[in-house]
Amino acid sequence: MTRARPIIVWFRDDLRLSDHPALHEAAASGASVVGLYVHDEESRALMPPAVRRLGGATRWWLAQSLRALGKSLTMAGGSLVLRTGPAASVIATVAREIGARAVFWNDIAHAPHQAVAREVEAALASDSIDSQIFRGDLLVDPKAIRNKNNRALRVFTPFWRRVQGLGDPPKPLPAPKRLTSIGGIASDAVDDWGLEPTRPDWAGGLRETWTPGEAAAQARLKRFLDEGISGYADDRDRPDRDGTSRLSPHLRFGEISPRQVWHAARFAAAEDSRLAGDIDKFLSELGWREFCRHLLFDVPDMADRNLQEQFDAFPWKRNALALEAWQRGLTGYPIVDAGMRELWHSGVMHNRVRMVAASFLVKHLLIDWRTGEQWFWDTLVDADAGSNPANWQWVAGCGADAAPYFRVFNPVLQGEKFDPDGGYVRRWVPELAQLPDDLIHQPWTATPIELASAAVELGKTYPLPIVDHKQGRERALAAYAKIRRKD
Ligand code: FAD
Repeated sequence: MTRARPIIVWFRDDLRLSDHPALHEAAASGASVVGLYVHDEESRALMPPAVRRLGGATRWWLAQSLRALGKSLTMAGGSLVLRTGPAASVIATVAREIGARAVFWNDIAHAPHQAVAREVEAALASDSIDSQIFRGDLLVDPKAIRNKNNRALRVFTPFWRRVQGLGDPPKPLPAPKRLTSIGGIASDAVDDWGLEPTRPDWAGGLRETWTPGEAAAQARLKRFLDEGISGYADDRDRPDRDGTSRLSPHLRFGEISPRQVWHAARFAAAEDSRLAGDIDKFLSELGWREFCRHLLFDVPDMADRNLQEQFDAFPWKRNALALEAWQRGLTGYPIVDAGMRELWHSGVMHNRVRMVAASFLVKHLLIDWRTGEQWFWDTLVDADAGSNPANWQWVAGCGADAAPYFRVFNPVLQGEKFDPDGGYVRRWVPELAQLPDDLIHQPWTATPIELASAAVELGKTYPLPIVDHKQGRERALAAYAKIRRKD
């Protein structure tokens, strides 16, 4: 009897073993399974819009996640092969080398990824190697939720109602119990790819904050549902509390799937009915991820293009000094600075503070949202092709279901409301730590004695505000009035 020819499973943003439809099907076939990850920065540039090159923080995450995936596959009896180059030629080459009969992968519902996948399919077909594509990392196929004009829904509430109307998504698939593999296939090492920073090694804060990989993702979900979900609906807005799941980078790299999160949360709600409200809120946040991805399916160049075209004429300003102050957390607004420093250190920023910091850039500084989106893309460990531009556009007022442009967050009031004791600011802006609670969000209102007793020297140890809130707000509204007249 001849042994079944092996099947390659091409991993991309789905770096896990459980609930992995392509891996599950390959394992169930009884064939040997070879996991393959292609570091492809060449195909990316070929088509507009390109698959974006990963930012610094996500490159770091990818390296850790691939190591974790490699270990899990090996422990299950399989293997992970790493290769570099254009996906189509690399995958066809590996398939020929090992005499594979098929390549399986999960879809990514984004045109540039699908274009690369089509090239892979064509290259394999010319060698008579089968391709099979499985459902991707979404609760619902974007083609299943359309409006009358066959477009993705642009308003969240009806979108989420439609998703919920479809009932529970299919139950997650278990990880294959045992894989068989074949040895002796040449592979790069993760270290060869230079994904991690060396000189300087700025990733200390990321290492201190995160454990990438499937096992850590599952543990985080479990801990959150056991200990953190109670009170989520209120606490999720409090950056001074540990009130959210912190699953976003794990979801970004597919170390956990949204339907695993969905079913685990539903199970927790069934176990304890008092949690129902918090769990509904949590699932609706997962719904925002889904909403952003469905928009991305429709608008593949969402990181470049205003969803509302009237914003194409918006009079954005270039201001390198102000941009640098924002990036470095030196704007003089403590809540904004705390967020930007949290981001730089840990690769993540609390959602409420992301909204305030983003609003400050686009409204108080009048800097194009795309500039901020690109900074987040480079520095966030959860930088996501859907959620990042969709949320930036939401804040800037040009997105889907967006906050109206004229609603300009007041960074002092936001700080006082959501970080009332200043715990978040004290953690990330330690030079203000000794200010009393009622001054910590507006140190410029303190008297010289109050400043001296907190060892703060404005303009020296901490900056004065780079723009006055009231003037910034008026300038933003005046800029917006210019494009409104064209309505
Ligand atoms: P939880 O509150 O525990 O929520 C659970 C999950 O729901 C999250 O892990 C995330 O996958 C999803 N989610 C929650 N809020 C949103 C949202 N507003 N939009 C989309 N999905 C959401 N999220 C990203 O995953 N990647 C990004 O690149 C990203 N960029 C953002 C940029 C801006 C300007 C803003 C305002 C928000 C951005 N978000 C992004 C959304 C949100 O800030 C993060 O998802 C959230 O802070 C992650 O923390 P958590 O996992 O503890 O969230």
